[in-house]
Amino acid sequence: RQAEEARSRLQPVTTLDGHGLEIAANVNKPEQVAKALDQGAESVGLMRTEFLFLERDHVPDEEEQFVVYRDMVRALGGRPLIVRTLDIGGDKQVPHLDLPVEENPFLGLRGARLCLARDDLMLPQLRALVRAAQEGPLSLMFPMISTLDEVRRLRERLAEVQQSLGLAPEQGGRRIPVGIMIEVPSAAMMADRLAAHVDFFSIGTNDLTQYALAVDRQHPQLATMADSLHPAVLRLVAQTVDGARRHGRWVGVCGGLAGEPLGAALLAGLGVQELSMSVGDIAGVKALLRRHSLAELQALAKAALDMDDGDAVRALAAQLRDTAP
Ligand code: PEP
Ligand code: MG
Repeated sequence: RQAEEARSRLQPVTTLDGHGLEIAANVNKPEQVAKALDQGAESVGLMRTEFLFLERDHVPDEEEQFVVYRDMVRALGGRPLIVRTLDIGGDKQVPHLDLPVEENPFLGLRGARLCLARDDLMLPQLRALVRAAQEGPLSLMFPMISTLDEVRRLRERLAEVQQSLGLAPEQGGRRIPVGIMIEVPSAAMMADRLAAHVDFFSIGTNDLTQYALAVDRQHPQLATMADSLHPAVLRLVAQTVDGARRHGRWVGVCGGLAGEPLGAALLAGLGVQELSMSVGDIAGVKALLRRHSLAELQALAKAALDMDDGDAVRALAAQLRDTAP
């Protein structure tokens, strides 16, 4: 029985009607990869690199970063890795960076915006990532994208870094897939345009919820309002998937909703192909997805888009067999 359990834990997910879904883990450190694989992750869908900065009292230089990214690639032994460039600002403050205090940090110089303003932070990271990508399937992902102009500028910077290292594809370097996080409503609404410029999208439902509903994701009194199951959020997910499909791009989700059984079911039903979550959530999500057909999940998602609020969407869970993992 134990062997049987281990086998199903490690098996990829297929719905009852035979559709595959990629289950990935949100992992920040090479030493956490083995556990994620043992729990059934097929890849790493989100490596948050802020942690490299937060756990030190200094800015890690190119070499320090390279070693960590390279070790992640090696620990994964050929499985895909998506590394997100620095997402500092908003809820992620790094005291030793000494950034100016902002009145509205969630609407300020955050994520890719900060990187575009600070070559001293962006260039060493991009150099380290481009070097590590030569060792295995590493994709790069930019956070907090709100406009196409940001994507163009970031891609230009990346191309310059690849050139200067002699590692551009035309110089014999590996082609590095580039994705963006969809976590700002403007990006979801413009997904059909953005998709032409990137290889994939990964939806950050934590921030997408906060920005769609104008609710601070950490506000103690508004916690119940920050509801990722709200149809407003689900409609933005649907719009993102629709925009990606027009260009043949794939969409993943690496926010908290991907690790909730009902959330994962709805996301799959909306056409999301990769779900990246905390390691502890993998078994439950896999078990749930295996008990349903994609057709059922699509019907469920369609119904959810027409509900009045998150509670009404939650009530749909009754239609899922055994929501409890
Ligand atoms: C998100 O916003 O959903 C996300 C995955 O990014 P973070 O939680 O790191 O902001
Ligand atoms: Mg986010």
